[in-house]
Amino acid sequence: MFKLTNKQVVITGGGSGIGKAMSILFAKQGATVHIIELNEAAANDTVAEIKTGGGNAEVHKCDVSSQQQVVAVFNSIGKIDILINNAGIAHIGRADNTSEADFDRIYNVNVKGVYNCLFAALPIMKAHNGGVILNTASVAAHVGITDRFAYSTSKGAIHAMTLSVARDYMADNIRCNSISPARVHTPFVDGFIAKNYAGKEAEMFEKLSKSQPIGRMGQPAEIAALALYLCSDEAGFITGTDYPIDGGFITL
Ligand code: NAD
Repeated sequence: MFKLTNKQVVITGGGSGIGKAMSILFAKQGATVHIIELNEAAANDTVAEIKTGGGNAEVHKCDVSSQQQVVAVFNSIGKIDILINNAGIAHIGRADNTSEADFDRIYNVNVKGVYNCLFAALPIMKAHNGGVILNTASVAAHVGITDRFAYSTSKGAIHAMTLSVARDYMADNIRCNSISPARVHTPFVDGFIAKNYAGKEAEMFEKLSKSQPIGRMGQPAEIAALALYLCSDEAGFITGTDYPIDGGFITL
C-alpha cells in the first residue's frame, strides 16, 4: 500500500524538518523527489540521505516567492504527479505590532509562494491527466494562536486556497487537501526557541512540549506518514479537506 513507484513528487522546503521527513519517506515509497529549496546545502544533505538509502531525488535551488524561478523550475521537471506546498516561515506579533515589511515577508512565502507553485504546477498536472496537491497549513489557522497574527492568517489563506483548488480542478482529476500540524520538533521550533529564549532553551522546550494536550511535540516522521496517505492512490476519495495532526491541540 501507499506505493509511489514512477511518481514525480515536488516538495517545497524539503531540506529541513517536516519537508525533509516527507522527502525521505516519499523516496522510500519509490517516488523521484524534487526538493525546492532556498537552502541548497540543506537540500543536498536530504538528497544524499535519500540516495544512500537507494532512492531518487534532485535539488532545485529556488525561492518559492519568485514566480519566475518557480515556473522555470517546474517546467524543467516536466511531469508533476504530486506537489507538496510545505515551505513556510513564522513570525511573532499581533496585528498592531506587525510591521508592513514583516507582514509582506510572511505572506510572500506562506501565501504567494503557495500560489506561485499552484500557478506553475496546475497546467502541468492538467496536461498529464491529473495529480495530487497537499498544502501544509497549521493549527494556528484554526485557533488563532496568541501573538501570531501574520502567521495564523497566512495559514488561514492556505485553507481557503485548498478549497478553491479542490473545487476548480476536480474535473481535471486533481485532488487538493491540507494538513494542520500543531507543534512539531523541527529546526523551525529550535530556531524559534534559540532566537527568543536564549539561555533558557531546555526550559522552553519542556514548556512547549507540556503545552501540547498530548504532552509532547509531534515528530516530522508522524506528519510525513499522514502526507503519504493523503497523496497516495488509496486516498482517491479525499479532496477539499484539512487534516489536523495535533495531539488534540484543537479539540481538547
Ligand atoms: P523548517 O524551518 O524546519 O523547514 C522549512 C524549510 O523551508 C527550510 O528548509 C527553508 O529553507 C525552506 N524555505 C523557507 N522559505 C523558503 C522559500 N522562500 N523558498 C524555498 N524554500 C524555503 O520548518 P518546519 O517546521 O519543517 O515547517 C514546515 C512547514 O510546516 C511550514 O509551512 C510551517 O509553517 C508548517 N508548520 C510547522 C509546525 C512546527 O511546529 N514545526 C507546526 C505547524 C505548521
